[in-house]
Amino acid sequence: MSSECLFCRIVAGAIPAKVVHETDTVLAFQDVNPQAPTHVLVIPKEHYPDAATMANADPALAGEVLATAGEAAKISGVDASGYRLVFNTGADATQTVFHVHCHVIGGRAMTWPPG
Ligand code: 5GP
Ligand code: ZN
Repeated sequence: MSSECLFCRIVAGAIPAKVVHETDTVLAFQDVNPQAPTHVLVIPKEHYPDAATMANADPALAGEVLATAGEAAKISGVDASGYRLVFNTGADATQTVFHVHCHVIGGRAMTWPPG
């Protein structure tokens, strides 16, 4: 846990969040600035800066993040209509919070390629 990290502070309860689903190791909560009717962030409670670092250090945890993303989509009612999972990684991808998070985005039709 890093007191400098925004999402570590959400895990610690120091910053409030609208929690969608929680397990012992993973937290899913509403994005504060939603880009679609459904926009949930799924994070491991343990701090890793990005998806690849997490997957290399703890593959089971990476699997739990993905499974929880699917659960969040189901809870949000977009599992049948479809949704997008996004791990922005690094500057070109516009990552702004360096605690790995999976965006679960759905509830509207999307375009490809992304901007
Ligand atoms: P990134 O650009 O790093 O992939 O995404 C960071 C996401 O975190 C953004 O979608 C942003 O809206 C969201 N975010 C930033 N600060 C907060 C916050 O304090 N609470 C919540 N729930 N989401 C946040
Ligand atoms: Zn963190």
